Amino acid sequence: MKNTSTSETGEKHQDIRQIFRQRENADAEYRNDIGQTKRFLERFVADPAFREALSDDPAEAAQRWGLQCDPEEIRQFWEAPGRNLCAPAKTLAVARYRAYVEEKGAFITSYRGMARPEEARWQAWRDRQIFRCESHLGPKGHLLVHAPFCIELGKGCSLGCWFCAVSSEKLGEQLAYTPDQARWWRECLEVLQEVTGEGARGGYCYWSNDPLDNPDYEQFMVDFHDIIDFFPQTTTAQADRHIDRVRNLLKLAEEKGGVIDRFSVLTLPQLNRIHEAFDPAELAFVECVPQNKEALGAGYVVAGRALERAKRRVAQGKAEPTPEHENSTIACVSGFYLNMVDRRVQLITPCNASDRWPLGHWLLDEGTFTDASSLRRLLKRMIADNMKVSLSADDEVAFRSDLSYEAAEQGFEVTSAFRRHTVKLPEGLGALGEAILSGRHTMAELAMGTERPMEETFYLVQNLLYDRGLLNEEPVRSEL
Ligand code: SF4
Repeated sequence: MKNTSTSETGEKHQDIRQIFRQRENADAEYRNDIGQTKRFLERFVADPAFREALSDDPAEAAQRWGLQCDPEEIRQFWEAPGRNLCAPAKTLAVARYRAYVEEKGAFITSYRGMARPEEARWQAWRDRQIFRCESHLGPKGHLLVHAPFCIELGKGCSLGCWFCAVSSEKLGEQLAYTPDQARWWRECLEVLQEVTGEGARGGYCYWSNDPLDNPDYEQFMVDFHDIIDFFPQTTTAQADRHIDRVRNLLKLAEEKGGVIDRFSVLTLPQLNRIHEAFDPAELAFVECVPQNKEALGAGYVVAGRALERAKRRVAQGKAEPTPEHENSTIACVSGFYLNMVDRRVQLITPCNASDRWPLGHWLLDEGTFTDASSLRRLLKRMIADNMKVSLSADDEVAFRSDLSYEAAEQGFEVTSAFRRHTVKLPEGLGALGEAILSGRHTMAELAMGTERPMEETFYLVQNLLYDRGLLNEEPVRSEL
């Protein structure tokens, strides 16, 4: 499909294509064009020496760093980007790249819908967690896809990054793709598919590890695609260590309809090695995420090891303590976290990292399994025990602990660090907010304590508060 865009000067730029989900639309020229712009911008974001050289002599800087993209063609991306990024495209290169970025954004937005499990209890619980996270985490909450599950195919991580937001362990045992384990793996995937339904397409196979630490990762992914009908995204921080392998993996992902992959770039030398090894067109659908300290906007998610370091610095008098809402999370699962070596499942959902939840997720339940049948039983038990559709009469009702309360004329307002929620109540329910604030009443007691019919109070508390993620569902214990 081809689009047309119009520049500020009225010149028509033909040949803007939808390529993100329709790779066949991107011929070699188009793909190279996207790849070259993308590479230029990766260098721009990651490398201060390049930025400086660019402002002195753009053509010479591009040549020195081996970039084939004409800096003048994409000047509006790098010159005063805050002012020009959203301005109408002045060149074909800008129009094409912007269309690509918009397509990518639309896919990421749609991922949440794609990842929605079919099971009714899980759906209702996950929807509440999405509302809660948007309020509790603010803008960070918008980025979380609330995937239904993630799977580790081994223990620990070989990278050992000091800032690891999930505090990975040292590299340990990896699941081998032997005939017996392959059969077991496929049976487990069938259970995940059965329990999650179509939403299983939103699952992926890494968490507190780097997927390439498992030598058989690709074979496991072929089975994932075969059973779940989707080739999951790979994120790796060691693309430069396994160049041929990664090249083949990217080809495999593309053949199987994979959408986007991601390289974490930890240092500038690593970016140099990646740019040397892979040509720009090859990485057109691979995000190179700059995490090197020189990168524009560099900063680490304060969770896991980064949170421990921040706390050490405070204890040493080198930094001021920061409020909890300024911590963060990279946990993007509202569902199951499986480790296939330990044969362990945890039920998790994101939260700000804190002393109690240093990894940036609540842990609601945990169990082990041996085979597909016991995995099925475990998942179904966790759903039944932890994922409620509605409040019960004997549930204690309280606001989330991060909300502050204020009475208002026709009800009340509760406010998180990021959002204010106004709750309007009908006549006769004026005391409801204060009663919930006390945190001492069950749903039945609340319903009996108002002048309105009990079922109306039930309905209002359910719809206005519970379904919007405003009531406290934080697990009582952090250790299970
Ligand atoms: S951040 Fe990623 S690559 Fe680094 S140690 Fe943690 S899991 Fe491994």
